[in-house]
Amino acid sequence: MQFTLTETQRDLKEFAAELAAEAFADRAFTWAGDLPFENRDRLADEGLLGLALPERYGGGGGTVVDVILAQEAVGRVCPDTAHVLSRSSMGPPRVIDKLGSEALKQRYLPPVCAGETTMSVAISEPGAGSDAGAMTTRASVDGDTVTLDGEKRWVGKAEEASAFLVWARFDDDDVGAVVVDTDAPGFSLGEARVNMAGHPQHDLHLDGCELPREQVLAHGDESFRALLTEFNVERCHNAMMCVACGLRAFDEAMAYATDREQFSQQISEFQGIEWKLADVATRLEAARLLIYRAADSAVRAEPSRLETSMAKVLANEAGQKAVDEALQICGARGYQQGHPVEYLYRWVRGWKIAGGTVEVQRNGIARELKKHGLG
Ligand SMILES: Cc1cc2nc3c(=O)[nH]c(=O)nc-3n(C[C@H](O)[C@H](O)[C@H](O)COP(=O)(O)OP(=O)(O)OC[C@H]3O[C@@H](n4cnc5c(N)ncnc54)[C@H](O)[C@@H]3O)c2cc1C
Repeated sequence: MQFTLTETQRDLKEFAAELAAEAFADRAFTWAGDLPFENRDRLADEGLLGLALPERYGGGGGTVVDVILAQEAVGRVCPDTAHVLSRSSMGPPRVIDKLGSEALKQRYLPPVCAGETTMSVAISEPGAGSDAGAMTTRASVDGDTVTLDGEKRWVGKAEEASAFLVWARFDDDDVGAVVVDTDAPGFSLGEARVNMAGHPQHDLHLDGCELPREQVLAHGDESFRALLTEFNVERCHNAMMCVACGLRAFDEAMAYATDREQFSQQISEFQGIEWKLADVATRLEAARLLIYRAADSAVRAEPSRLETSMAKVLANEAGQKAVDEALQICGARGYQQGHPVEYLYRWVRGWKIAGGTVEVQRNGIARELKKHGLG
């Protein structure tokens, strides 16, 4: 059993932390709905975009573990930039790498690795949230073309994306995925609702959106299973965003508690504060270890539903609790707009809903336990 990072992994984490402190710290917690484009360029220059994608497409040739380590280090300084980093290796680019044709890989992966474009995923619909199987967006294949009709909802980072991985129901009733460029005929961005972190989430309209059949990435029983398996990895990225936010909140709380004096002593000397810090750190450490294990399993074999769901639940809840406790420790200071903890408080909340809610993860965990036990 090995609980330590390799020297290369430690070096990567250290490199990412130093880069973040030097280049991303100043503007951290100011991005709200804006994409940190300049940081994306820097990530590309430093080889941190597409870290887990093959080198022949401009990626780093690394693993999911490398991505989450770099994401953790950067996210502890600037969560928005960490999000850019991990999205370039997870989600649609990873699905294209694992399931796509050579033509799709050559077309979509190099611009993502170079920081020229991004891709988003479109699964949710007005009538299909947790129950993704209720989706009604149709994909009809006819000869060499596939035509999409339907509406997607809550799509993140849609304005900056040049293409979407759209999940749809095909004529045989199986669910699959199609890569849709934003300039495809019949595609349009719909209404944007701004979430509590200040990020817009868009509707997508697909009205007779006709595409070459080669854009179909996954269709058929086997492909759908593979698509779901890749979605397991996505949970590690979601989970690590929460741990990174929690770690930063912990840092803020510790700094304030060891500086602030009340009743003629540092507030960190009060047992009530000590126990908060101890509990926050313990939960974050447990969540971080579960993510490392889930990501490591994903590198060695198929990413496991049980491990990734457990990691997501714990990390979503540990991250949220960490930020909440940090805000309490920072008192009125932490509650002010512009304070990192106030920003994190709003940001961390969404991850517990995105990528499958914690309730739905628990359903999945229970299903796996009933099938295979706990080991
Ligand atoms: C920040 C953020 C970013 C997102 N980005 C994207 C994106 O890029 N692309 C995309 O397609 N979607 C995105 N989503 C949407 C996200 O996938 C859905 O919000 C999520 O799947 C839940 O669906 P819902 O919001 O419709 O909630 P609902 O499904 O309506 O659920 C409401 C509540 O009921 C609970 N519930 C539902 N079913 C069960 C059950 N069987 N057992 C127990 N409890 C249950 C849920 O856990 C939840 O608490 C994003 C959401 C957020 C918050």
